[in-house]
Amino acid sequence: MTTMNTPTTTDTLSSYNPSTGELVGTVPVTPVSEIDGMIAKAHQAQIAWAALSAQERAEMLKPAGEKLLERADELGRILSLEQGKPLAEGIGEVKGCGNRMNDEVDEVVKAMIPDVLTDEAVESTLYYDPFGVCATITPWNFPALMPHWTIVPALVAGNTVILKPSEQTPLIADAYVKILNEFLPEGVLQIIHGEDDQGKALVAGDVNMIAFTGSKTAGQHIMAAAAPGLKRLILELGSKDPCVVLEGADLDKAAAFCANNSMRNCGQVCVSTERIYVQDTIKDEFMSKLVDLVKDYKVGDCLEEGVTIGPMVMREQKAHVLAQIEDAKAKGAKVVLGDTPMDGNFVEPTILDNLNHTMDIMTIETFGPVACIQTVKDAEEAIELANDTEYGLGAVFFGEEQLVRTLARRSTAGMVGVNKSLGGASGTPWVGARKSGIGYHSGPLGHRQFCQLRVVSTNR
Ligand code: NAD
Repeated sequence: MTTMNTPTTTDTLSSYNPSTGELVGTVPVTPVSEIDGMIAKAHQAQIAWAALSAQERAEMLKPAGEKLLERADELGRILSLEQGKPLAEGIGEVKGCGNRMNDEVDEVVKAMIPDVLTDEAVESTLYYDPFGVCATITPWNFPALMPHWTIVPALVAGNTVILKPSEQTPLIADAYVKILNEFLPEGVLQIIHGEDDQGKALVAGDVNMIAFTGSKTAGQHIMAAAAPGLKRLILELGSKDPCVVLEGADLDKAAAFCANNSMRNCGQVCVSTERIYVQDTIKDEFMSKLVDLVKDYKVGDCLEEGVTIGPMVMREQKAHVLAQIEDAKAKGAKVVLGDTPMDGNFVEPTILDNLNHTMDIMTIETFGPVACIQTVKDAEEAIELANDTEYGLGAVFFGEEQLVRTLARRSTAGMVGVNKSLGGASGTPWVGARKSGIGYHSGPLGHRQFCQLRVVSTNR
């Protein structure tokens, strides 16, 4: 069985089903030699695009949202077939993009309204202008949502966009771009297919801004490559999110959160719960609830009835997860559930106990279906361990409300949940702290990251 997605030729990028190894489809690879020409075309198109009002640009995108909804079943199937997540989740991801389109573009329009500041002598107007051409480079784990999150605000802000999606999931990205292009002028949104070389050529080209979502390593390369041109950057990178469970927590809620957030999308989520710190006094009760939930997950092909976890996206990813589990076991970890070998790209949902920070699985991003438990004696030890990471995307704390609110403010993560997931209120930006990112997107504050702020001051 073929289980690795690699281009079959230099001209064609083939997308394979990670459950079966079957070919799902192909797209033409964009020759690196054509990328500068595409960027020039994007600059040309940007002149007329930026001359429209934000409202006019927003109105053009609204029918694309409806189209995404109309075709959600078909597109969700493509997404699931090439990425592996259960069909309902694939369809749900496409629907999520379509459903939010109207509100999102309206939110960007509002964020573009200039601010006016005055004192006795001076009136200053703060304008939110487009940068020009925005390159957006995206990963495979949410292959419709990740492009959508950056393309929509970049476009409504008046930038033109070139998307370089992951080589693992080119088909859904291609379908998404085609739908938007039914409603956009020529050259406003383009797509480049290929591997790292295409991404590198795009970053090196004459683009004004790069919105990158992906691994820390690629983010570091992109930041270095962007430095000579001082190109504007948003980097949304990896993480090693902790969840702390202390006395006073609603253990049903905490266990449900940890099970779902360690296992969903086969653990391949940037804000997956990758480390769980549980107070010793409640550990047994928490563990038994967690085991009860995780044992019911059903692993299998995305189209199979009742499947809740698909395969890992590629065999390298599976090998990485299994190597971390083996490293942990060799250093004293106890397997509480799972860890039975599975065929192909599948990994059994696994719970490990007795973990500590000498193990790779507690320090290096895993991106797999593993719940990792370390016992702590108190809140102080928990917050120290939770912050003992170079990353800082999300963190979640369960326990007595006042105590965990205090701990939340000591967390070094960008987004923190207190007795709930880290999901924020409507309009909240998506923020990675430390080595999980630079800048942020989404919500009015995030939309303005796609703009050059310009200040014009006059006498009053
Ligand atoms: P990746 O970094 O390997 O690849 C992401 C994209 O970057 C791909 O399109 C790839 O072709 C391209 N690329 C790789 N190296 C490049 C370079 N030097 N220059 C230009 N482009 C380059 O990441 P992945 O394996 O696709 O995705 C998984 C990672 O993404 C995980 O670390 C995950 O945590 C992270 N992620 C973060 C967020 C977030 O919001 N912070 C969201 C989703 C995923």
